[in-house]
Amino acid sequence: MNVKLADSHAHLDEPQMASMKDEVLNRARQAGVHLVINVGIGLANSRQVVDSAQRFPQVFATVGVHPHGAQALRPETIDALTPLVRHPKVVAVGEIGLDFYRRRSPEAVQEFWFRELLEWACGLNRVVVVHTREATAATLKILREFRGRLPGGVMHCFAGSYEEARDFLDLGLYLSFSGVLTYPPAEPLRRVAARLPLDRLLVETDCPYLAPQPWRGKRNEPAYLPATAATLARLHDLPLSRLAERTWNNTVTLFGLNGRLPPESEK
Ligand SMILES: [Zn+2]
Ligand SMILES: [Zn+2]
Repeated sequence: MNVKLADSHAHLDEPQMASMKDEVLNRARQAGVHLVINVGIGLANSRQVVDSAQRFPQVFATVGVHPHGAQALRPETIDALTPLVRHPKVVAVGEIGLDFYRRRSPEAVQEFWFRELLEWACGLNRVVVVHTREATAATLKILREFRGRLPGGVMHCFAGSYEEARDFLDLGLYLSFSGVLTYPPAEPLRRVAARLPLDRLLVETDCPYLAPQPWRGKRNEPAYLPATAATLARLHDLPLSRLAERTWNNTVTLFGLNGRLPPESEK
């Protein structure tokens, strides 16, 4: 079967996998994953993800500061990130957002910097990769302040209700599903995913985290993406190849990759 998948959210430069990117990307290719968006979570890591994108034709990067790092953010951090965003292989600002689950930074500090980073993305005319955990209402409230100005974005690792999904879709955002969709207790999420419009859905690994069944709890990698995609395909009653094509096209559209992909992955 001819399957061509795009992993819309990976962390290839996390310490668990940074030293084995060649092997990881070889296994990805063998599994049909021919495009990987390598997501930055802080200044040092953003430099690394851009380096990787420069090295591997099928890897593109995003540059941002995860909400866990909000406390340590300074205006100078954003000044240092700005030239990276302009790199030709950087396709978005992110990940940015709010995480009230782990609360590694106070909520008010996270909200302040989420607004600052959204403002920064608008100024650079970049789409955003948004992380939200236990913070949907606050995330929506802030994103609505940017309605009409933000060039677009994706709610990564979406795991909310149908109503929340609609709210994000109404803002023009895409929704990305991770391995969580395959977990046995995630039946409510699968029911939500089955009702969502396919032209706004992406799939991701969020590796090295959130490995899908049957690898749950192990180090995740892009080669495991077909398990998540197969679950979404089943929910939409499509063959995997067709679901892969739809989510590939959505990834290309969102991140503006048309005409920028290596010939091998354009096949
Ligand atoms: Zn995240
Ligand atoms: Zn992530």
